[in-house]
Amino acid sequence: MLLLLALGGCATVPLTGRRQLSLVPESEMLSMSFSQYSDFLKQNKVSADRSAAEMVRRVGTRIQGAVESYMTANKMADRLKGYAWEFTLVESAEVNAWCMPGGKVVVYTGILPVTQDENGLAVVLGHEIAHAVAGHGNERMSQQMLAQFGGTALSEVLKSKPAETQQLWMGVFGVGAQYAVLLPYSRTHESEADHLGLIFMAMAGYDPHGAQVFWERMAATNKGKAPPEFMSTHPADETRIAAIRENLPEAMQYYRPVR
Ligand SMILES: [Zn+2]
Repeated sequence: MLLLLALGGCATVPLTGRRQLSLVPESEMLSMSFSQYSDFLKQNKVSADRSAAEMVRRVGTRIQGAVESYMTANKMADRLKGYAWEFTLVESAEVNAWCMPGGKVVVYTGILPVTQDENGLAVVLGHEIAHAVAGHGNERMSQQMLAQFGGTALSEVLKSKPAETQQLWMGVFGVGAQYAVLLPYSRTHESEADHLGLIFMAMAGYDPHGAQVFWERMAATNKGKAPPEFMSTHPADETRIAAIRENLPEAMQYYRPVR
């Protein structure tokens, strides 16, 4: 811990107040993220379904706005500096969605039958946006960098070992543009993203009770088949659903229904 303090590499997660490792400069995180996102778009098909794509953008933008207002009001706007939010619906049977650092969000058409409506979509987008806002990507990169390079000045590593840095990034976010962000987050990150996601969707005017219903529906899609991608990285078990139920009263304090 002393070493980390010496490196000045700690941050605090908004709302939960959890202290976390954050050793990679945000500018570095964002530029790696933006380049992987654009590679991903080159290799995947953006959905031609205008109304569904518009819905993804509308729900995403509304949550983005709510999060930005909250961060600004609480003097944390700098945490979102350099973000370039984008909400893209990609044509794929995969039941999945993800958000890269800097606000690059992808939803696969395959998850829409499970989200069903805007409120269900807000559950998924709130959760994914929470991973980004909580800096989970940077924390994972930092943990791995520390394990691999020890106390070496990280700025040096980033400068002198771009290949290794790139490799770490792939270890955290996937093995190639096509498989972006398939690697599961830790339990801590998952439950934190659930917790923040409920609050974010509530702030944007979506009823957070929809989260419990969504996860139950997600669990039901698993019957007798291989679990959908989203569920293999996001186990919809009883523990998860119980934790969401417990967090609902707190999230409801932020809930302002949209007129
Ligand atoms: Zn997650």
